[in-house]
Amino acid sequence: MRFALGSRNLNAQRIFCIGKNYAEHVKELGGSAPGQPVVFMKPVSCLVPPGESIRMPTHGSNLHHEAELVVVIGKAGKNIPESDAVAHIAGLTLGLDLTLRDVQADMKKKGWPWEISKAFDHSAPCGNPIAYDENIPLDNIPFQCSVNSDLRQTGNSGEMMFAIPHLIHFLSGIWELMPGDLIYTGTPSGVGPLHSGDRVTLHSDLLGTFEWPLA
Ligand code: ZN
Repeated sequence: MRFALGSRNLNAQRIFCIGKNYAEHVKELGGSAPGQPVVFMKPVSCLVPPGESIRMPTHGSNLHHEAELVVVIGKAGKNIPESDAVAHIAGLTLGLDLTLRDVQADMKKKGWPWEISKAFDHSAPCGNPIAYDENIPLDNIPFQCSVNSDLRQTGNSGEMMFAIPHLIHFLSGIWELMPGDLIYTGTPSGVGPLHSGDRVTLHSDLLGTFEWPLA
């Protein structure tokens, strides 16, 4: 996927996903708050642009929506201090971290990696980003997820346990961040099942509205 941000075009590079970043979501899954960001990755081949239909995976039966604020990195950096993190943000949008919850539960029980429950084809629908500028309050971005017009999730970036500057700092201590990297920053509570034929809508007054039909 290619993102147009002002005069720049960025090709998606890598997708970093943050788990367990909202206290109410951690509670609804019966887990405990992590002491540091929980990180997993998806290949960029998981991306689905808005308006295109999402193929249902067939290796599980309980596909969940997880609505997330997505950060697009615009400037490379390693060991980025929190105080400098916003300078590395090119854009913001909303995305879905689609998850096969039944497969994930099985992987957790076995102590196996999560990938087949999280990083399958079409598991990362992503909106069109808007260019970031410092008038956008990173710690107060409201967003919501509806399925067939029923409101399922509401969240605000201010409720994150690890805020965006900390996530950029943390990730860049492990990987040199590159332009086109995406950070899916975690989901608020209200996750739930999706079925073939559903229509998922993500909305934020600050970022826009994006919609995907499920094939
Ligand atoms: Zn997630």
